[in-house]
Amino acid sequence: MGKQKAFVVGGGGMVGATAAYAMAINKAVEEIVLIDVNEQLVWGQAADINDAMGFDSGILVRVGSYDEIDDNDIVVVTAGAAQQPGQTRLDLIGTNKAIVESIVSQVVAGGKQPFILMVTNPVDVMTYVALKTSGLPKNRVFGSGTTLDTSRLRAAIADSLGVHSREVDAYILGEHGDSSFSTIERARVGDIPIRQFPGFDEERFANIDQEIRDRVYRIIETKKSTYYAIGQVLSKIVIALRRSTYSIFPLCSLLEGEYGLSDVVLGLPTAINNTGTQILGGYELTDGERTNLSRSAEVVRQAIDSIRE
Ligand code: NAD
Repeated sequence: MGKQKAFVVGGGGMVGATAAYAMAINKAVEEIVLIDVNEQLVWGQAADINDAMGFDSGILVRVGSYDEIDDNDIVVVTAGAAQQPGQTRLDLIGTNKAIVESIVSQVVAGGKQPFILMVTNPVDVMTYVALKTSGLPKNRVFGSGTTLDTSRLRAAIADSLGVHSREVDAYILGEHGDSSFSTIERARVGDIPIRQFPGFDEERFANIDQEIRDRVYRIIETKKSTYYAIGQVLSKIVIALRRSTYSIFPLCSLLEGEYGLSDVVLGLPTAINNTGTQILGGYELTDGERTNLSRSAEVVRQAIDSIRE
């Protein structure tokens, strides 16, 4: 049997290379194959990451091609334009649609059945594009959704309350963009409602949704792009995709009636294991969250409609 492989398309870029590095360090898979149109850059990234494994053998990081993809391999797509200072994720839509269509056609060429994990922004719309282009079932084509945003929220809560982030149960849901929203109102820490947790400060959390949304813009202003956090998040998702037990992340995938919404992609609590993903319909939303989710659905739907042929 061959090694377990994960492909990163866009692996020469900041997000792809950092995801590959995190996957290597976390031993997410045995072989990490980078693909990128910038052949020089991707060679350099693969060589540099592979050299990090010299005291920790067993993981190979190298450049490769689409024809090496096998059924059930994991293909992480990070290729495309990234936000520039002042740009929203939705500003990237036209450029990245064409890139994603061309990549996904090559990923599934010959009828292959891999798992496709979309990262390219706007990720909800690009997941929709990838699903339609691939013709694969929806449990095999999904995006990171609001998992990065949720990591940001949990880290902020954990830091503020001085607890380990695994004790924090809270999500950012909806569009991975400016209409995202948190479930802070009913967040729990160690299964205690957050407001009753020692050290909870109403003022600290009053604007947490906006603070998390703004964080990406602040990071882009200072260092042009964000990659460490998404790299680690992607490595966690890839590890989850290899296990038989379910993990739960707010990934984005196609809704077909869940929460009363259809033909749109949004970040919602989703079970993931080695058979793919499934939206958890049992997650009950408050009235306010339902309204926020509908608003996100409207934003993503309009973006999808704007690129329909
Ligand atoms: P980057 O410019 O550093 O890297 C993009 C890479 O894609 C480049 O190396 C480029 O050569 C490659 N590429 C372009 N067209 C290609 C094609 N047709 N085939 C193969 N490779 C191709 O950008 P980045 O900072 O790595 O960001 C990549 C994407 O990830 C952006 O769309 C960004 O907005 C997105 N992103 C998403 C999240 C999330 O949570 N979903 C978080 C951060 C960034």
